[in-house]
Amino acid sequence: MSPAYDSIVVGGGLVGSALAFGLQREGLSTLILDEGDLAFRATRGNFGLVWVQSKGIDYSPYAHWTWESAETWASLSNLISEITGIDVGYRRPGGAEICVDDKEFAAKRQKMKKLQSHSPHVKFEMLDQKSMAELLPGLSPDVAGGCYFSGDGHANPLNLLRGLHQSFKSMGGVINSNAPVNDIVSQGSSFTAKTKKGQFHGARIILAAGLGTQNLANKVGMDIPVHPDRGQILVTERLKPFLTIPLSKIRQTIEGSVQIGDSHEDAGLDVGMSTPILNKMAIRAVQMFPHLGNTRIVRAWSALRIMTPDGYPIYEQSEQHPGAFAAVCHSGVTLAAAHALQVPKYIIEGTLPTSLAPLRTNRFKKEMAHA
Ligand SMILES: Cc1cc2nc3c(=O)[nH]c(=O)nc-3n(C[C@H](O)[C@H](O)[C@H](O)COP(=O)(O)OP(=O)(O)OC[C@H]3O[C@@H](n4cnc5c(N)ncnc54)[C@H](O)[C@@H]3O)c2cc1C
Repeated sequence: MSPAYDSIVVGGGLVGSALAFGLQREGLSTLILDEGDLAFRATRGNFGLVWVQSKGIDYSPYAHWTWESAETWASLSNLISEITGIDVGYRRPGGAEICVDDKEFAAKRQKMKKLQSHSPHVKFEMLDQKSMAELLPGLSPDVAGGCYFSGDGHANPLNLLRGLHQSFKSMGGVINSNAPVNDIVSQGSSFTAKTKKGQFHGARIILAAGLGTQNLANKVGMDIPVHPDRGQILVTERLKPFLTIPLSKIRQTIEGSVQIGDSHEDAGLDVGMSTPILNKMAIRAVQMFPHLGNTRIVRAWSALRIMTPDGYPIYEQSEQHPGAFAAVCHSGVTLAAAHALQVPKYIIEGTLPTSLAPLRTNRFKKEMAHA
């Protein structure tokens, strides 16, 4: 059977769309197959940070990968804008994590020193309340201060998804939604993805189906362990701009809404919301910015992160079925540039580079051997 597509990407969330964008841009005819609206979709529920300062503190390969992506994010944003005219809302004014008391401040300083020991480019600044308040008018006089890093930024994740989809289609890519893949068969140098809408043949298959990746990966000889990690977000009415930089848990959008986030919960596949947790998030936000106490909440949601056993991304290729790849992560906004501009080249070469070896699954086997 001759493959109809050079590559099939399973999953049209941020990870699959960024990879498909890159593959199509490199000249490969690419098809996205996506389950559709009933699927779990982290992409539609995230906080929108392009964030470096808390990534890979205990694992330098992840810190470097995050940094590379953040450094090339402007190129991705420009490319999407050139192809589609869509502004994905990317801004890189720096970002901060606020520490409400001295204990948090000391702990953050320690973590950042650790990060800097293997990633010296992360030139963070620990600022006391007074210096932080100069950056953040309205900051409570009662907080201890926080950590500022000039390399952090944010974007509008829904515009990013729309921009990736539209650019992909403008370059000739095809998206087939409401087409959950229920089986994958490998025949010689071709893969067949089976869906209720029919069968699709591709020379490569890339599994980027979020929480659905694990099941599909088994069919092509890969073990991709993922589990859900629920996050809830609150959104206020639109306010006059007051936050000039995004914070790890509070972000003002270009339109003026303030997002307050975002919890980490083990709730299985439950995408419901929990008032005590939302309450805790709101109290902490008001502790940082007292004027938020007089603001109306207009929306709240929860979504499931795609979490690996150690929290770091997984990039894998099948040894049994060369041409089958998998990609999962819980920082699909931050890593979108690496996924769109770098990983497709490796997929085309047919081999993941040694720089990505620490993000393959054999790291779990090594951990078990040491246990
Ligand atoms: C509350 C919260 C806050 C977050 N904040 C940030 C942040 O600030 N910055 C950041 O970088 N990241 C953040 N993230 C993480 C980010 O949203 C995810 O890393 C990213 O969306 C993952 O994209 P994905 O494409 O892998 O998964 P998803 O968005 O879940 O997409 C998976 C896709 O696969 C499809 N699919 C599933 N099974 C099949 C199948 N069998 N066949 C076909 N299609 C299938 C689904 O339809 C879905 O569209 C946050 C996540 C959450 C939940």
